[in-house]
Amino acid sequence: MLPQNPVFRSTYRIGVQKVIPLSRVGAIGIISRAIRKAGLYRNKAGNRYEIQADHGFRKRFATILKLRNDISYSVTERLLGHKQNLDLSYFRGTREEIFREFRKIILDLTVSDEERLTLQNRLKDEKIDRLQFEKDSKISGLEETAKKLLERIEALETERKETRMINSKLKETMNRESDPSNPYFPDGGPFDTRLVNLEVEEINADSMVVYDSEFGESINVVLRKNQVYCTLDKSSTCKHVLFALANPEFYEIVKKNAIKVEV
Ligand SMILES: [Zn+2]
Repeated sequence: MLPQNPVFRSTYRIGVQKVIPLSRVGAIGIISRAIRKAGLYRNKAGNRYEIQADHGFRKRFATILKLRNDISYSVTERLLGHKQNLDLSYFRGTREEIFREFRKIILDLTVSDEERLTLQNRLKDEKIDRLQFEKDSKISGLEETAKKLLERIEALETERKETRMINSKLKETMNRESDPSNPYFPDGGPFDTRLVNLEVEEINADSMVVYDSEFGESINVVLRKNQVYCTLDKSSTCKHVLFALANPEFYEIVKKNAIKVEV
């Protein structure tokens, strides 16, 4: 709102006339004619009418504004253009914030029933759109959560299968090792490792050092090329690997690296 682009112009012809703001006298003339045309009757008190022609608009605006209890006092005062107010010097509402509050009373300020209806419908549509949007985002949020839960369940299911497999292989091997009727260690003769003699020496970020107390040797079991790999046997299925996998802490490291386990 600047002098060169006023809200109300005195006359309006696109591109032809220079912009002249509507004068006070001009405004009074328009309002008086409108009052006469509408056939409104105003009581006179002395020389003046009870309701002033132009100031009446401001009064109506103020009344509508002040009747709303969802618009703060500061915003009301600001919209009425009251400057002599202590509260206002602390109040720093942005143009957008104040307009958002003003929107609440547009419906009440609208005079024409037809216009009000149109506006009402538009506000309703906006509300429906907003609710629809909120609903849609809620649904997609839930879908996302459901998807993540499903993935987590699948991962847990895989882990359960794997740990079962590891445990049964462990048990089976131990049974064979302790079978007195078996003259040899089952997986390669008398020099084969026995599970019972293995100990955890160290667990690192991507490896485990296994100590074989029978042969007095430290063996590295590492994560390599998406496999759990024994550096001594150059194998991913030897007893050192099986022993390492049976350790929950190491198994967790293996899963963190998304390595599929086959024993
Ligand atoms: Zn090995």
